[in-house]
Amino acid sequence: MHELALARSLVDMVEEYALEHNATRVNRINLRLGEMSAMTRALHFCFGAVCQGTACEGALLAIEEVPLTVFCSHCDEVKQPSGRYSFRCVDCGMPTPRVVTGKELQLVSIELSESEFRQIQNAGDRTGEVAGSATP
Ligand SMILES: [Zn+2]
Repeated sequence: MHELALARSLVDMVEEYALEHNATRVNRINLRLGEMSAMTRALHFCFGAVCQGTACEGALLAIEEVPLTVFCSHCDEVKQPSGRYSFRCVDCGMPTPRVVTGKELQLVSIELSESEFRQIQNAGDRTGEVAGSATP
């Protein structure tokens, strides 16, 4: 459910962006995803289902995984924990509840297909009927 909702809002966001730029196709979506979310696989899976019939259909979802790092106040240093759910410093064993990286979900960039956009423009016989009504 969580991943599905996330995939949906992602596709919505990208489609809105594509509309704003008069593009009908999206080539690639670049995303940064924290290792801790452990959602890369699920998101890929949901994305494929959600994007059908949208401008995102067939787009490549490129996910860059951001490794988990935590801050140890005892060592006063940023550390990489030994495991995804291990919130203790690998060096001194103190609890490290402060996550520095690994939780992010960030839409980095969207690559639109411009060639297709031009093709569609040229194919239109009638002009003036394209309503620019992408008002939210
Ligand atoms: Zn430590």
